[in-house]
Formats: sequence, structure tokens, C-alpha cells
Amino acid sequence: MGNFELICEVPTDFGATYTKYKSTKSGLTVVLSDIEAPLVNGYFVLATESFDDFGCPHTLEHLVFLGSEQFPYKGVLDSLANRAIAQGTNAWTDVDHTCYTITTAGSQGFLKLLPIYVDHVLYPTLTESGYYTEVHHINGEGEDAGVVYSEMQGCQNSSSDRLHLRMKRILYPETCGYRSETGGLMERLRELSVEKIRDYHKAYYRPDNLCLIITGKVDPADLMKALEPVEENILSKGPLPPMQRPWVSTGDFPNLTKNIEETVLFADEDESMGTVLIAWNGPKCHEYFTMKALEVLNLYLTDSPVSVLQKEFVEIEDPLCTEIEFDSTDHLKTTLMLTASNVPIEEIDEFPAQLFETLQRLVEANDIDMERMKMVIEKEILKVNDSAETDAHETAAAICISDFLYGSEDGEDLKKAVKDKEYLAQLIDLTVSDWINLLKTWYLDQFHVVLLGKPSAEFAEQMTEEENQRIEKQREDLGEKKLEELHDALEKAMAANDVPVPNEILDNFVIPSVSTIKFIDVQSAQNNSKSIKNAVQEHINRDNSADIPFFIQFDHIKSAFIKLTAHISASSIPSHLLPYTRIFLKSIFSLPVERDGMTLTYEEVVKGLSEDTLEYDSGLGTSSGFRELAVFSIKVEASKYKKAIKWLQDILWHTQFTAERLKIVANQILNDIPQSKRDGHSMTIACMRIIQYDATKSVSASRNVLFQTAFLTNLLQTLENDPNSVVKELNIYRDALCNPANIRLHVAGDILKLEEPRTSFKDFSVYKNNGPLAPITLAQDVLSAAGISPGETGVIINLPSIENSFSMHSTKGPSKFDDPDIAPLLIMIELLDTMEGIFWKLIRGQGLAYSCFLDSDVEAGEISFSIYKSPDASKAFEQAKFVIDQLTTKKMEIELSAVDGAKSAVIYSMVSRENTMDRAALQSFANQVLKHMPASYNRSLLTAIQATKVEDLYRVLDKYFVSLFDPKTSNHVVVSTSAKVPEIQKSFSSLGFNLKSTTLNDIAGDASS
Ligand SMILES: [Zn+2]
Repeated sequence: MGNFELICEVPTDFGATYTKYKSTKSGLTVVLSDIEAPLVNGYFVLATESFDDFGCPHTLEHLVFLGSEQFPYKGVLDSLANRAIAQGTNAWTDVDHTCYTITTAGSQGFLKLLPIYVDHVLYPTLTESGYYTEVHHINGEGEDAGVVYSEMQGCQNSSSDRLHLRMKRILYPETCGYRSETGGLMERLRELSVEKIRDYHKAYYRPDNLCLIITGKVDPADLMKALEPVEENILSKGPLPPMQRPWVSTGDFPNLTKNIEETVLFADEDESMGTVLIAWNGPKCHEYFTMKALEVLNLYLTDSPVSVLQKEFVEIEDPLCTEIEFDSTDHLKTTLMLTASNVPIEEIDEFPAQLFETLQRLVEANDIDMERMKMVIEKEILKVNDSAETDAHETAAAICISDFLYGSEDGEDLKKAVKDKEYLAQLIDLTVSDWINLLKTWYLDQFHVVLLGKPSAEFAEQMTEEENQRIEKQREDLGEKKLEELHDALEKAMAANDVPVPNEILDNFVIPSVSTIKFIDVQSAQNNSKSIKNAVQEHINRDNSADIPFFIQFDHIKSAFIKLTAHISASSIPSHLLPYTRIFLKSIFSLPVERDGMTLTYEEVVKGLSEDTLEYDSGLGTSSGFRELAVFSIKVEASKYKKAIKWLQDILWHTQFTAERLKIVANQILNDIPQSKRDGHSMTIACMRIIQYDATKSVSASRNVLFQTAFLTNLLQTLENDPNSVVKELNIYRDALCNPANIRLHVAGDILKLEEPRTSFKDFSVYKNNGPLAPITLAQDVLSAAGISPGETGVIINLPSIENSFSMHSTKGPSKFDDPDIAPLLIMIELLDTMEGIFWKLIRGQGLAYSCFLDSDVEAGEISFSIYKSPDASKAFEQAKFVIDQLTTKKMEIELSAVDGAKSAVIYSMVSRENTMDRAALQSFANQVLKHMPASYNRSLLTAIQATKVEDLYRVLDKYFVSLFDPKTSNHVVVSTSAKVPEIQKSFSSLGFNLKSTTLNDIAGDASS
């Protein structure tokens, strides 16, 4: 294997073998995880340690993408990645490592890109001009800007970031890198320099501190061949000074020596709900068995509505929180954490004491329900099998990253890190007192940190005030002349960054043929079908001892599990009952059930479900849309197929609504609302839906969180005064929804192994459906007047809890799934959106927004453009409008080499949609049943994408994108931090878009009145 020496070969419980190599010459580590799948993933990891808050690890991560020694062009890596059949590259910075990622369809493109990517990581250009635009600068208006700066502005003051930073400051000493904000604090970023980042790169970005983790189907010999030029280049640079391994000597620290409790404020005008974070010192990360035991104990305490802590704190009439969960860091010495979200502010001070009392009570009473504990462990074993099927890549990455950072160099720790099933099997033997001891040792006998996160309107105001004053002073100090110079400096930096990539670099990177990609095969059959002919259909037809008058599609895949899903058309629910949708779906799996003449309590139902199933869920829509369908799913081991059917039947028809359960669930939903209102992007979507959908027709629109406060507050009152009327209405709701004519069933799994795939449904026949199936309601069927013909509608929402602005702009798009415009439209969107594509360069590259993206929603017949985290959304919008003008008038040309890259990126996104067994089965159902398209729909679209010509792109540009930026044919929502509202409103108006200024409460009130 050339320079590479085999360190170890480790078979795992996760359906893959991990093979680790190390170069004897360069010190580079490579881990290959052999996974049978169409996609190949790369995770390129460096141990990055930092002892300050300048954010060197994070800022460096951004700069790596701006060009390398051999490829000194900004954007070349992403353009080439697309040609490798990928969708750009990505990266993240954690407190202890930085990881660069790439996913390609097939291995050919991956191996070609690998040396180019490594050149970027090890030998980036790190230019002054790159630093200026990408990290931080002061613009001509005297405001601080830059991609990283804006990114941190968007999160540094969020409740979660403020709580976690405070926790780190208390737990970790100054000599420990875990203490630092590796993203960079805004005040430090303002003082950072490119030299400091270059020094950091020199110290940490070395081949002997780099590990290439590769997951998927890659031939090891081909991989070593691809790495030859990499090794050669590294060795040509000469030897490096010795390096101390990061973390291993600094990652340990003393335990807490006393209890600490503090309050942490965060900005929000709604002061009703807070967050509690409790932290303890944990075991060392190599104590795999203890860590697994704690993980199981944590699940036992919190995993379902009948678990101890949920029962005590969540599933009560006035919930003390809506979510409670444990987590742990995976540092050399771990930290155990408990987070309780949405704690009513009048309860928050008492919360920690109540929590510790509850834990203490368990210890005193020796109270561990061993039957439930066994269930929790058995389910964890099933989840190991499930993750081998559904996320083998991510599992491999997490384990191998941790091993690279903290594991022994001979591979011995890696061998111990992959034995989850063995540890779980041992846990079955623990006794009550073992569990109680564990609980006592880690959560009661140790000191802890309690942080109470409280929302504060005054704090929000004060922060805005201080920031305004700081900017004002900065402007004054700089003066007119200096500001002009700064403006010019930015232009210069942008010009310096934008040296075009020579065409021959792109042309030399030949796009691999699509025929090299191996798709997952799915064979479909349908109940009572005469036309389908294949082995699965024959197997279904043979199982014919009963009459089964339902629509059922069976999708055969290789899997140890069966997923049973009911897709239910909601169009027959009476209009006035639609607002019940949220509480109906949230409560339905935790209600009492009438079964065979007996009533199971809600606790028995929850326990039974967790014993029999791997997972269950209810909601609206699938991952490919269809939000007008109610979807109920149950996943079980294949041997429990009949039990899954029985549960589905019980859930749909035999649940009993009780005032007690409804009050609890209504309060939980209400308590969650303030938190969801703090999210700028999702509020933009929520407001656009209020404008474009008819809430008297649309089940999804009526569920909007912005409508729910008023509805649920009233409902709680009615539940006090006249509970029967609510129960009656919910029963009418259920009868309308769960009418068999509305139901389409989907069974995905190893169908050929099921003995009675079809007749197992015979008990369903009580609910016979005689008429035809109800049609599938699409989003386009429930639009409001403004959704049917967009134009002259726009609002700007004042949201004090955010520090920037978000927006969404919408117009008409293709509305038929076989519209020939879809292929060129997808390519055009990719060209504009793609990393280092047109919008990226001209909007993100100029600091106008952290990102922006287009979407074509065929189901709704709508095209939308979203701006995400922008200092001023109007400026980003204006720029996008300018770009579209330039393109349609051909003042800006569509480059041919970019079109090829975009096509290959779109092809990647289609492959990734069906890259695991369960996803492939879902695509099969969505195409054939929900879209009424042939099973070959995705393959035909692939062909159409490859055949698209440049003139097709100009056609869709004229047909759709012009109207997106025309006030007469588009709708607009902007959500902005308070201080910026008047300015943004004014600049939209000067562009011809009149936005009505309003608030979240008012927009919901106006729409429902
Ligand atoms: Zn970033």
C-alpha cells in the first residue's frame, strides 16, 4: 500500500468494517469504512485546539475554501466538486476539531477531487483580501461585516449559545481549550488579523494532525493511488518540527468543587418561557461501558411520556417544561448535561430543586422499573441495527473522529468503541442497585452547575441600544474620508478575490458517467393489482385467503424492519374543526385505547408502543411535501408486522379523547410557541403561508403556530367548562379524517419474507371502503386568493429577538409533476444557488446575506426565493433582482462549464434522495401513489436533466424569474430586527415593493378575523 501501513481492521456492529492506515512518511491517517451505498462520503478531520475567543479554527475553516497553492482561485473547489457529482463541499468547526466534508455519487469523482481538496486543507492561500470579505471588515457605512462576523452575529446572543458559553466558562479552566468559543466572539473577531490565522494554520494543519475518513464503496488500491500525488507534494515540503498531540495532554481538568447556580439573560420581548441547563463532570471518553450505561439511564429517565421525568415535569396539566433531555459532550473528559426547555418563568427558580428531589426520591425508594429498563436496552440494540441501515455514514464518521482525537494510536480504542451491542447486552444484567448507584454517583453525589436562562425585553433593548451607540461612535471616529477609503478597500478586496477560474481547469475535470452510479433497487407491488408483474406482486397475490378492500402499496427492500405508514387525505374534515389538527396529531399516540372490550390507559398504550415498535410518528406530509395529508407511521422488527397493523388500527379508530390528556397536550403546545417565534427563518415561512393559503380549506395552514395561541387558549377554557363538547368535536374530526376512503397504506421492508403480507390486514375490513378513493389534495388546491395570483402583497414583521433580517419572495411556478420546465428549472436554480455560483458570489461574497436560496415547489405551483441572516434583506434582494435583469438581458452570460457542473449537482441531489433503503422505498411510494407518476419518474428526470440545453435555461429564466422580482406578480415577507424595520421598508418601497409593517400577533389576528 505504498507509504501507508495498515494499523487495524475493525469489524463493527454498524454494518461496516473500519480499516485504518497511516503513512510512515507524512504521518497522514486514513480510515476507510466499507458501506454498500450509492454515495461516498469524505470527512477530513483536524484536531484543532484554541485557548482564546478569536475564533481561529472557525475563520480558518472559511478561508480554506478560497483557494490553494495549486489551485489559487476562490470557488474552484466547489465548482470541481459539482463536476465530481456532488453538491458543493461543506465543513464544521466543533470545539475540539474541524471537519471538511464532501459527498459524491459514486467513487470516481470522489477520488479525482480528493487530492485537490487536501491541497486546499493543507496549503490554502490565506490571502488578506479573502480575510477581508470572508471574516471581518468595516464597510463604507461604518458597520462591521464579513461572512463569519454576520454568522456569529446571528447566533452569539441566542439563548442556547449564551447558556453553553457560560457553562464552559464555569466548568473548564483557562488552560483548557474546551473553554473557548471556537466560532469567534464578535468583539474578538473585530480585533483578529489574517497573520494570526496563518500562524494557527501552521501550528495545526499538518499531515500528521489530519485524518481522512472515507465511507462508502471505494476500492482501497484506487484510494492509495489517488493519494500518491498528495504524499509526494507533502514530502516535497521537507520535514516539520515535532508536534505535541492536541487535547491528550490538556483535555483533562479538575472536577467542580462546589455547586454553582447563575442566571443567564437572553433577548426576547416575550418573557414567559425560559430554559434550565444543569451540568455535571462526566467519565473519561474511553470509559465506553460507563458512558453507554449513562446513555441508557438517561433514556430510561426521559425517553417517553411514561418515563420518570416526563411524567413528573411534562405530562401534567400545567407543564413545568415541554422537553427534558440529557446529553453529553464527547471530550477527553466528558460533561453530562440536562436541558429543560420552555420552563414557565414563574416556575423556573424552583425547577432545579424539584428535579433533584425527584432523582433523590428514586434513590431512596430504590425505584427502577426493571421491566421498562429492559425494554429501553432492547430498543437500543434494535437502534444499532437500524442505524446500520439508515445512517451508517454518520455513525462511522462520529466514531472515527472521536478515535482520531482521543483514541490510542495502535487502534485498540477503536476496537472498543464499536462494541455497542456487547455493552448493551451486558447492561441487561445490571441490578436495581447498580442503576441506583449510577444515578447517585453521577447526578446526586457530585457537584453541579445550574444555569437559569431567562428571556428579557429590557436586555434586548439594552443590547440594541449599545450596539447602535457603538456603531455610531465607530462611524464618528472613522470620519467621512476614512469611510470612503473603507468602501474602496472592500471593492478592491472583492476584485482581488474574484480572479476567474481558468476554463481549462474545469474542462480537464471530466464529469464521471452517470451510469457508474449504482442505485438501490426497489420492487413495488399493490394490493389487488392486475397490471403489475414481478416476484413481489406474485408473492402478494398468493396470499389470497381473505378479501382486503384497501389501497396498499408494498415496496420490497433489503431490511430487518417493516415500516407501515397510512397517508390520509384530510379534505373531508369540516372547515371549523381544522384548527384541531395540531392537538389531534400531537395527542393521538398518547391517549387511552379501547381494545377488545377493555380500556388500555394512556400509560399502557405508551408502554405497549415502546415495547413493540422501533419508532412511531404522526404529522402532516412526507419528506417530499404533501402537507395536506395526515401521515401516521410505525416501524417495527419484521417479526412484529401484525402488531404494527394492530397498533395502527387502534390509533386510527380506537383512541379515546379525554379532557385530562387534551389539557396536558394543549398546554405543552402553548408553552412551545414563544420559542418557535424566536426563529427568524421559520417565522418568515409561517407568515408567507398565512398570506398564500386558505386556512378554511388547508389542514396545514390551519395548524400554523401563529393561529394556535388564540385557539388553544379558548380550547383550555372550554375544557374546563364543557369538556364533552371538545371531545365530541374531536370525534367528528377523527371520523371525517379516518374514513377508509381517505387512506392509502404503504408497507416498506423485506416483503418476500412476510408470510401474510396482505391478509394480515383482514381485521381492517370492519372499516370497509365501498366507494372510490378520495383524491390526493395538493398544496395548490388550498391556496388563498393571494396564493392563486400573487402580486402587490407584502409585509415586514418586527421581531425583537433577532439581530438581523430574513425574507421570502414567492411567485407562480410549474404545477404539474411532468412539466417539461422542471428539469431546466432545477438546473437554473442550481446555477444561481450553488456554492460559489452566481448568487453566492454576488450576495454572500459581498456580505449582503449569510445565504440565499431558491426553491421550486411543484406541488404548490410556486417558486420562492429566501434570504437568510442578512444585515439588510432589501440590499440582498435588490442585488438578486439586478442579477436576474442582467441574465435575462444577456448582459451576463450563462457559462457552459457552469451548466455542466450544475447538471451534475442536480443529479447528485436526486441520487441522495434515494441513497438508503428506506428513502428509496419512500420515493417509490411518493412517485407512484402521491404524484401519480410511473415508478421510473426519477430516472426519466435524470435523462431530461442531462438533455437540457442552454436555450431551455433562458426560457425558464424569462418565464419564472422575472415575475419573482416584479411587484405585480409576487408576494413578499420580511422579518427583521426592530431597529432596521423602517430602513428596510423604505428601501423596498424605493424598488416598487410596498410592505405593510406589522407584528406576528397582528398578522395572525388579521388573517383569522
Ligand atoms: Zn461558519
